[in-house]
Amino acid sequence: MSKTSVMWFRRDLRVSDNIALAHAVENSDKILFVFHIDTQQLEKQPTVNQSSFFASVQQLKKSLKKQNINLYVFYGELKDMFNHIKKQLPHWRDLYFNRDEHGYGGERDQVITKYCQEKLNISVHATMDYNLHAAHDIKKADGHYYQVFTPYFKRWMTLVKSNPITIDLTNISQEHLTVSTLEQDSMLDALIDEKHSYAYVDQIGEDKARKILSDFIENKLTQYDQNRDVPSLDATSHLSRYLRTGEISIRVVYEGIKQAPDSDGRSTFIKELCWRDYYNMIYATHPQQNESAIRPEFRQIRWRDDKIGFDDWQTGHTGFPIVDAAMRQLNETGWMHNRLRMIVASFLTKDLLINWQWGENYFKQKLVDYDPASNIGGWQWAASTGTDSVPYFRIFNPTLQSKKFDPQGLFIKKYIPELKRIPGAKIHEPNKLSSIDQKRYHISIGHDYPKPIVNHKTARINAIAAYEKSKTMN
Ligand code: FAD
Repeated sequence: MSKTSVMWFRRDLRVSDNIALAHAVENSDKILFVFHIDTQQLEKQPTVNQSSFFASVQQLKKSLKKQNINLYVFYGELKDMFNHIKKQLPHWRDLYFNRDEHGYGGERDQVITKYCQEKLNISVHATMDYNLHAAHDIKKADGHYYQVFTPYFKRWMTLVKSNPITIDLTNISQEHLTVSTLEQDSMLDALIDEKHSYAYVDQIGEDKARKILSDFIENKLTQYDQNRDVPSLDATSHLSRYLRTGEISIRVVYEGIKQAPDSDGRSTFIKELCWRDYYNMIYATHPQQNESAIRPEFRQIRWRDDKIGFDDWQTGHTGFPIVDAAMRQLNETGWMHNRLRMIVASFLTKDLLINWQWGENYFKQKLVDYDPASNIGGWQWAASTGTDSVPYFRIFNPTLQSKKFDPQGLFIKKYIPELKRIPGAKIHEPNKLSSIDQKRYHISIGHDYPKPIVNHKTARINAIAAYEKSKTMN
C-alpha cells in the first residue's frame, strides 16, 4: 500500500533545507501540503507582523504552485483540519512538521501530537529545525541549563552544526482534497493588509532571502563588528525577517557565513546567531517568562500606568530624538535596528518606568521579524528582569547613546524631518536650542517637535529606587 503523509508548514515557509519536508519526501509516496491559521490566534486588527507573515505564506503557495503543488491553507480549529483530512484521506498514516520548543506553539504541538496519535491513529514525526542547537541540547557539566550567555556561547562554539540538506520535489506525488469551507484562498488574501505593504512588497520568498544573505556576505560581513551599532550605516544583515518566517534556514545562513573568509566581522556575526539559540533555550527553560519577570526580586516593581507617555513613546514624540527616530523607523518599516531596540526598551522601562510587557506587546504587533523568544528575551534584558540582563542601576542615557551611535544625526534626520536643518552637534538635545537657533533652523521646540517628556536624571533615580524597593519586597 502506498504511504500517504501530511507535511504541515508553520514558521518554516520554504522548500529548501526543511528538515520535516526532507523526512516526508524520503518516507512517503504521496504528500498533502498544508498550512493552518488558527483564527483564535489572530489579532483583532490586522498587524504588520501578521500581515507580512501571511504574505510569506501566500508566496510559498505561489512558488509551490509553479511546481504543480497545491498548498492547502486551512482556517479555524486545528483539530477540525486534521479530522477533515482524515475523513477525506482515510489511508493517511504519517504527519511531518518542525516542532516548537516553547510558548503557545510548543503547547499546541503536544496537544495535537497526542490527538493525532490517539484519535486518528497517525504516526507523528516532529523534528527540530528552527535553531542551530535545540534548547535541550546544551547543558552545563552539572546538568543544569546555562543562565549566562558567555559560557553558553563558549560551549555552543565547540558543538558541530548540521549542514543544509537538499530536497528534490520534482518527482513528488501529491495528495488532493476536495473543496472545503475550511480552505479558501480568499481568506488568506483578506489577512494581508495592503496598508502594511512596505513590510512585504518585493521583500519575500526564499530567493529574496538567499540574495539578502549573499549581498550581506559580499558587502558588509567583514566590517560587521565595526559598523553594526551605527544605525545610519545600515550595516546589519536584515535576515531576522526571513529567519522568523523560515524563508531561509538557520543552517543555510550559518554555512554561508562560515564559508566567507575569516574576519572579526564574521566572528561577531556568528556570536549574534548564538544569541538566537540562547534566547530560544531561555524561553524553553523559563516558560513563564512571557508573563512575568524571570528574576523573582523584580516581580514587585510598581510600574507607572502612564498611557500618555506610552502613546508618546509609540508614536515617536518623546522629545528624545534617537528614541523618536527609532520608533518612527519601526512604525514606517516594520523593523528596528538592534542598538535602537535596546535604547527604546531601556527608555520605556527605566525613563518612563512602564512595564516591559507593554513594549513587548507593541513590538509584537509591529515587527516583521517578531520572534517571541528573542523579543521577550530582548525586553527582559533591557528591563533588567532576565537571566543575563543589563544591571538595573546601569541605565542607558538616551542622549549619550545618541551622540555615540549617531554623532552626525544622520539617522535621526532620516526619520524626523522636522529636525533636518539642525547641525549634528546640536541635534541630540533640540530643547537646548536658543530661540535664535530655533529661528535659524526653522523649528519651534514644543510646537514642531516636543520638549522631552521626562527628565532623564530624575527618572534614573526614580527607576533605581523602584527596582530596589521591589528587591526588598521579595
Ligand atoms: P543582524 O545584526 O544581522 O544579526 C543576524 C541575526 O542574528 C539576526 O537576524 C537574528 O536572528 C540574530 N540576532 C542578532 N541579535 C540578536 C539578539 N540580540 N537576540 C536574538 N537574536 C539575535 N530579534 C528577532 O529576530 N525578533 C524579535 O522579535 C526581536 N525583538 C527584540 C527586542 C528587543 C527589545 C531587543 C533588544 C532585541 C530584539 N531582537 C529581536 C534581537 C535583534 O534586535 C534583532 O535580531 C536584529 O536587530 C535583527 O536585525 P538583523 O537581522 O539585521 O540582525
